Amino acid sequence: MCIFCKIIAKEIPSNIVYEDDEVLAILDLAQTTKGHTLVMPKEHYSDITEIPFEKLSHLMDVTRTLAQRINDRLHANGFNILINTKEAAGQTVMHMHVHIIPRYDENDGIKIEFSENKFDMQSILELIKG
Ligand code: 5GP
Ligand code: ZN
Repeated sequence: MCIFCKIIAKEIPSNIVYEDDEVLAILDLAQTTKGHTLVMPKEHYSDITEIPFEKLSHLMDVTRTLAQRINDRLHANGFNILINTKEAAGQTVMHMHVHIIPRYDENDGIKIEFSENKFDMQSILELIKG
């Protein structure tokens, strides 16, 4: 059983923010910023590519509601919603989860920076477009 499945089964304690039949939200142990929360499906799916659409839809519904609530109650000024998918993207727990990271100001310890690269966009488009 993975670590999040053990948390869901209450074999490992956690700080539960929200729970329903399908979803559990807990405080992230790391508390990258105050209120950093993880929202996960109770059923084990390894990442976002595995979870059925209806379940993802409900999970994102809960995520948005919680993000707004956390933002308001902790007097944050915004939030990042983050889904790391697979090891190359920094996923360390292979049980699908969404990070809610409340943001306070430019000195809150988080920097998400996009560096610029020059790729041939036409050939990329040809590969990506449906
Ligand atoms: P990932 O890098 O896979 O997107 O994020 C995994 C997250 O789970 C990390 O932010 C880490 O702090 C958190 N985490 C790992 N183990 C535990 C745990 O046992 N309890 C809680 N509450 N969070 C955990
Ligand atoms: Zn699991």
